[in-house]
Amino acid sequence: MTAESVSKEADLKTLQSVDASYCMPTYRRLPVSIVRGEGAYLWDDEGKQYLDFFSGIGVCNTGHCHPAVVEAVREQVGRLIHVSNFFYTEPAIRLCERFSKSSLGGKVFLCNSGAESIECAIKIARKRSYSKSGVAGGRIVVVERAFHGRTLGALSITPQPEKQDPFHPLYKEVDVVPRNDPDALASAVDDETIAVIVEPVQGEGGVHVISDEFLSIARDSCDRHDAILVFDEVQCGMGRTGTMWAYQQTGVVPDVMTSAKALAGGLPIGAVVAKEEMGDVFAVGDHASTFAGGPVVAAAALAALGVIDDEDFLFKVREMGEHFGDGLNRLVSDGKAADARGRGLMRAFDLPEGRSASELVMKGLEEGILFNAIGERTVRFLPPLVVEMEEVDEVLNFISENAGQV
Ligand SMILES: *Cc1c(COP(=O)(O)O)cnc(C)c1O
Repeated sequence: MTAESVSKEADLKTLQSVDASYCMPTYRRLPVSIVRGEGAYLWDDEGKQYLDFFSGIGVCNTGHCHPAVVEAVREQVGRLIHVSNFFYTEPAIRLCERFSKSSLGGKVFLCNSGAESIECAIKIARKRSYSKSGVAGGRIVVVERAFHGRTLGALSITPQPEKQDPFHPLYKEVDVVPRNDPDALASAVDDETIAVIVEPVQGEGGVHVISDEFLSIARDSCDRHDAILVFDEVQCGMGRTGTMWAYQQTGVVPDVMTSAKALAGGLPIGAVVAKEEMGDVFAVGDHASTFAGGPVVAAAALAALGVIDDEDFLFKVREMGEHFGDGLNRLVSDGKAADARGRGLMRAFDLPEGRSASELVMKGLEEGILFNAIGERTVRFLPPLVVEMEEVDEVLNFISENAGQV
């Protein structure tokens, strides 16, 4: 292929055949080739428009190609792309400051993905415990059906047999407690526990809101046994639930928080922030990443934070989220859905027994509405946070008309 033909939009059949030959088959892709995005909309190679309630798995919270993100990237990419952490670069250092001030107020480690942010949190827990006792190791408590990522450390604390089984041995020092069972949690945490890791709203596990009571017992148990409380806000953070960070609605403040997905407006990033007293657990040489905090991605993240960390913006997310949640609850009362869950613009519902979530996804694709199935009957919505009332209504109407047909 010449450079010119590569730059042209390849047709779907060609892409599917090249994909089948050259890409490891780890993804089940929808049969569509996306070539452009703007705000809450995407376009395929034939010019068909889609309303996107998928947002790249909760990455494009600012909407596709938000002008502030595009401008920041354009400006930075022509000036300096990479130089490594052997040097000071302003975007990365400003990003640590900005991210910290929006959340726990302590020090930040930047990385490149959600799984990496989890690996970093696990290493903080281990290093802290090792520094105290001189003994490495210790147990980590997690919640059933949690999702923390696919690298071996993160996979170890992602208690989903279908994801773990082929990849043992994983860390064994992991205790899994039922979701929203504070008593089970309290008895799982003991002096061998070094960390409790929780998604305040579980994402991949089916959009389950973790109760304030559970989180506050997690806080107490960690304090009692000198373990650290880690909130994984990779999916539920960055304005997704209607506050900058999901923990801000729970009354519970973690010691360490992870972020990734939406933090850089669509570019790959991960980040970990610790409370002030945990900020110096790592010393020089304890952790590093070649690409971490690169100028382009850091500039994008500063722009994305600028858009989302704004009271009026977040107020609107809460408003749209309530409207969406009310609509989904109405589907439940009408018998079209079995259960609706979520907070802010992180929503899901289960179809009634015998119905198929993936068929509803395919129907949506036909009609130009994108969302995803996370289980046989569970449908998840992660619209861009810039979504408007009419767009939420369009999706609600679509479900109302089609939930009974799949
Ligand atoms: C997506 C996700 C991860 C993993 O992020 P990657 O960037 O895919 O490694 C971790 N935790 C949560 C809560 C997630 O949603």
